[in-house]
Amino acid sequence: MSTVVVLVEHTDGQVAKPALELLTLARRIGEPVAVVLGAGAETAAPKLGEYGATKIISVDDPALDEFLIAPKADALAQVAQPLQPAAILISSTVDGKEIAARVAFKLESGLITDAVDLEVVDGEVITTQSVFAGNWSVRSKITRGAPVITVKANAVAPEQAPAEPAVETAAVTIGDAARKARIVKVEPKQASGRPELTEAAIVVAGGRGTGGNFGPVEELADVLGAAVGASRAAVDSGWYPHAYQVGQTGKTVSPQLYVAAGISGAIQHRAGMQTSKSIVVINKDPEAPIFALADLGIVGDLHAVLPAVTAEVKSR
Ligand code: FAD
Repeated sequence: MSTVVVLVEHTDGQVAKPALELLTLARRIGEPVAVVLGAGAETAAPKLGEYGATKIISVDDPALDEFLIAPKADALAQVAQPLQPAAILISSTVDGKEIAARVAFKLESGLITDAVDLEVVDGEVITTQSVFAGNWSVRSKITRGAPVITVKANAVAPEQAPAEPAVETAAVTIGDAARKARIVKVEPKQASGRPELTEAAIVVAGGRGTGGNFGPVEELADVLGAAVGASRAAVDSGWYPHAYQVGQTGKTVSPQLYVAAGISGAIQHRAGMQTSKSIVVINKDPEAPIFALADLGIVGDLHAVLPAVTAEVKSR
């Protein structure tokens, strides 16, 4: 069976959910080999084994922490090349896409970004991308080298497939060309205590209808243990940071429950949330297009409805 290289997104060995999704997809096309860059491979090993990694390759070079992206691409390319993998899978994050582009260049391979599905047809890896705000699916294959593919978060639900991977250490040479942009300071994000937007089981999102007051959105999110999301109109107005934007030019979420408050349902917003399992809409305009997606729709002022729902949840 062919090897599929999976670059593991992690923080000190705490594996991010998208990495488990990559392992799940990798198993469809071959045997997943997880590559852990930086410290933490031993910590990550049990989780990676739980989701089917057959081997873990650890690269812990000081340059990976000292410099921006380029050393990671150097390391991944050097680890992947001798394996002649059927594919190299990387999460579709900002960093992930830069690593993917650099690795594809180094290996003289083709690159596909933002895949939402993978399969093998007649021995070839076929990717599916969802384009034009989810209205079209594009199926494609790479015709040159080991396919380098970035995969969007929540493309699949992670599935366990217990394995007992050995951790191997690989030595790499990080060239001078990869040591051009040194990291001078890392500031941890202020902890909100809320789950990560792309990983949350529940998302409560606010739009222009909040009028800039995200208080009721955050209060409901907190009683539900949910993440907060925002439409682009809310983000562009400076009411909420861009990191929380849901949609075509923001994040893609696929939670069990998505609450859209004061959001009209523009196609670009829907592209980021329409695969949510249940959708609750609160909007004062009964004609708002987002009601077409709603499992439960409430016509009303979010400033009255959200606090009432929050109080009800609290009272239970
Ligand atoms: P509006 O469309 O202004 O809707 C506000 C809604 O709030 C209305 O339905 C109104 O009835 C309701 N409302 C008002 N007051 C209340 C109240 N008190 N209580 C309840 N309801 C109320 N948008 C995204 O969200 N994400 C993206 O990633 C994204 N990417 C884009 C990329 C491109 C290339 C382009 C061109 C656009 C993109 N957009 C994106 C913008 C998108 O087209 C819409 O402009 C945006 O989603 C609108 O945000 P909204 O629904 O909050 O605002």
